[in-house]
Amino acid sequence: MSAPGAILAGMGVGLNAVRAEVFRVKPAKPIPSAHKHSGDSETEKHTLKGAISAVGHYLDELGLKAGDTSAEIFEALKMLLEDEDLFETAATQIDEGWSAATAFIMAVDEFGELLAGDAAFEERLADLRDLAKRVAAHIHGIHLGLDLPESGSFVLVGEDFSPADTAQFTKAVVGVITTKGGPTSHTAIICRSKSIPAVVSCSEATELLDGQMVLVDPVGDRVVVDGDESMATKTISFVAKSVEPIIPVRANIGSLSDAITAATTAANGVGLFRTELLYLSATSMPSVQAQAASYAEILKAAPEGPVVVRTIDAGSDKPVPFLNMPHEENPALGVRGYRLIQDHRQFIVDQLTSLEIAREQSGREVWVMAPMIATAEEAIEFGSLARKAGKFKVGVMVETPSIVMALSDLKNQLDFISVGTNDLSQYLFAADRMNSSLGALLNPWQPALIRALAKIAQDSDAANLSSGVCGESASDPAFAVVLAGLGFKSVSASMSQVGAVRSALSAVSAEQAKQIAQLALSSVSAEQAKSKVLAALSNL
Ligand code: PEP
Ligand code: MG
Repeated sequence: MSAPGAILAGMGVGLNAVRAEVFRVKPAKPIPSAHKHSGDSETEKHTLKGAISAVGHYLDELGLKAGDTSAEIFEALKMLLEDEDLFETAATQIDEGWSAATAFIMAVDEFGELLAGDAAFEERLADLRDLAKRVAAHIHGIHLGLDLPESGSFVLVGEDFSPADTAQFTKAVVGVITTKGGPTSHTAIICRSKSIPAVVSCSEATELLDGQMVLVDPVGDRVVVDGDESMATKTISFVAKSVEPIIPVRANIGSLSDAITAATTAANGVGLFRTELLYLSATSMPSVQAQAASYAEILKAAPEGPVVVRTIDAGSDKPVPFLNMPHEENPALGVRGYRLIQDHRQFIVDQLTSLEIAREQSGREVWVMAPMIATAEEAIEFGSLARKAGKFKVGVMVETPSIVMALSDLKNQLDFISVGTNDLSQYLFAADRMNSSLGALLNPWQPALIRALAKIAQDSDAANLSSGVCGESASDPAFAVVLAGLGFKSVSASMSQVGAVRSALSAVSAEQAKQIAQLALSSVSAEQAKSKVLAALSNL
């Protein structure tokens, strides 16, 4: 048990502190091990059908609660769960004498072995195993939900939360603490978008007990056991120096409803439209007409200003079923992003063609960029494909250390670059962004990342490339000031953070931002960089 007054360090998400009671997520009862049924195969098959249908309804509910892009994830899961062949494989096991629950788990394992090598399926296998567990739990009357309170105010404490978990968050969840996970974890992204204060990667939180009061203090990157609101690290209240921020603040979007929401913020256009999010559950390739129609709708709805569209960034953490990508031992280092040109050149060309149709229909200013570029040749090849396809400003994302070292070779070849700090951190620190134990290395305040960013801004200027940042780091108002001070010409933030980032960038002069960036550059640890910058911003 943590003593009152104890300070548990982690990484903060959000700007407001909250004090509430701890609610620990309980581990579910174990599912009984493999066993045989008592002889009636037909009844077992009926039981299995019923359990599959119940879990299917549960996925529908989660999809409804989650809305938008996440809803598509749950639809795709349901298709996997209700696959006829899967049921037939389980039925054969039931005929062999295995119980409904055991037979379904065996069928999923058999599928896993049969389809080993099919990357699109393998990436979903963990999801399917989780669903098989839910089917078995339903059959045994075991409840796997988080059982969150509907009323009152609680700080949820757990290891890390999956999309299915976060979709169950009720109004009573006013704060979140995870012992693992980092600044780009699913928990962090959802808490940021729902404005729930959180501290992630807080390993000592394993000691917290149900009912203990805690202060979740995201600005201070800490949890204070039994702390009260007066102990919260002060959010800097920025005093505007000018109406407009020193550099434009754009919004990140992934769907039509995001574009509509973004238009209600003060965002100056869109700095990252993640096109692959439209296709996470598509099993057949969308035609040029279908793509052009969705892009045109999104362009028309987007906030005023340029719209930066990224060509498909499939692979690794974003599987797109219709691309049937081959199995890879290490997909984050594999054929993802622009590397899809090897086998799917036509899809990238079609995407650019569709975007040109949508650009003409909407009358919007469209910039296009390719993700996961590693060499100047790739960047130049993409530039010529895009210029052939339409009247765009053309650029690439900077997400790999190799392209950081090659920016000068892009002089006068492209119009802009946009830094994806989520992936750049992953590749710079050799720290898998999906590994919830490596959060500290993915902290954008790491001085090595900040120094890489300084080089990118400088080399881009020298190469006549306009430079922006669209990774999660640009959603932190204080970090956005550092980015402006390093010389970036725009930032693009999560929609919920556009207002806060604009306030910070309206409270400093360009000269002050430069001095603040120097403080971050001269730090020796992430903690020191952040605290020096926050101190300077508080004393403006
Ligand atoms: C990034 O890597 O920072 C980025 C913006 O792209 P994504 O998070 O979609 O990979
Ligand atoms: Mg990326």
